[in-house]
Amino acid sequence: MSEGLVFNEILYPGVQVSYSCEEILYQQKTEHQDLVLFSNPVFGKILMLDGVTQVTTADEFIYHEMMSHVPIIAHGAAKNVLIVGGGDCGLAEEVLKHASVEKLVQVEIDASVVDFSKEHFSDFNQGVLEDPRFELVIADGMKFAAETDHRFDVVIVDSTDPHGPGAVLFSEEFYRNAHRMLTPGGILVTQNGVPFLQRDELVTSVERFSRIFKDAAAYIAAIPTYFGGHMTLGWATDNPDLRRQAVPVLEQRFKAAGFETRYYTPDVHAAAFALPKFILDAVEEG
Ligand code: SAM
Repeated sequence: MSEGLVFNEILYPGVQVSYSCEEILYQQKTEHQDLVLFSNPVFGKILMLDGVTQVTTADEFIYHEMMSHVPIIAHGAAKNVLIVGGGDCGLAEEVLKHASVEKLVQVEIDASVVDFSKEHFSDFNQGVLEDPRFELVIADGMKFAAETDHRFDVVIVDSTDPHGPGAVLFSEEFYRNAHRMLTPGGILVTQNGVPFLQRDELVTSVERFSRIFKDAAAYIAAIPTYFGGHMTLGWATDNPDLRRQAVPVLEQRFKAAGFETRYYTPDVHAAAFALPKFILDAVEEG
């Protein structure tokens, strides 16, 4: 029996994930990366950049809710938010659900990802580009961070992995500029890979955070597409109290925010900072 067309994601030497492809919906070699969108019976639409899965319509809610609501609710008064990367605009949709957010700037290097996501991912980025609070800047996040005078309460790095154009977003220089862009007590959150497979990525980022911020840590979410167990989201701030807040405080803020979620709850928020020992060891090494 023919297996039909499959896309293989090579994650690590010796590990690859195969997705059957029902239909190629879009394919383009952009100025910055190879982009392909195809449909799969389990994950819905899958976006790959340079052969690495970025987002799927079936499980994007987990990643996007945990990257946005955890820092914004932990901060408690975030008005200005920056997203670096995030071209599919699913993260922006979650950030903009917070009526308290007055301004969201998104700096994405590849205009093609945004353009094509408008058309193909409107099920999870509806209304973002029309929202008057949203400003899209097409630029390298590294350059933007080095040059901007704007200050943000929360900075979220929704990047590709540390290869190709995303590599600079894991550098100490970028983290120093992220620190400079934050208001006092502001929070940096980063996508930091799946530590079962990408342990070094987590150790290196936390080590760099700890040279710059008073609190350098990570929290977890289980995202089926990011194969290999828990994914870690890096956490860096000069206010260590923001990491361990009482659930009733989080509940009160979430209730006041007044929207529904599918993964995030205040209990999940608090629990996400309880790290399995092998992940805690990697964070402590960093
Ligand atoms: N959720 C995905 C994951 O964990 O694999 C990543 C999301 S995808 C939206 C990442 C985005 O980062 C892409 O749109 C890519 O173009 C953008 N990007 C990569 N390097 C960048 C850079 N240096 N500056 C700004 N955006 C960048």
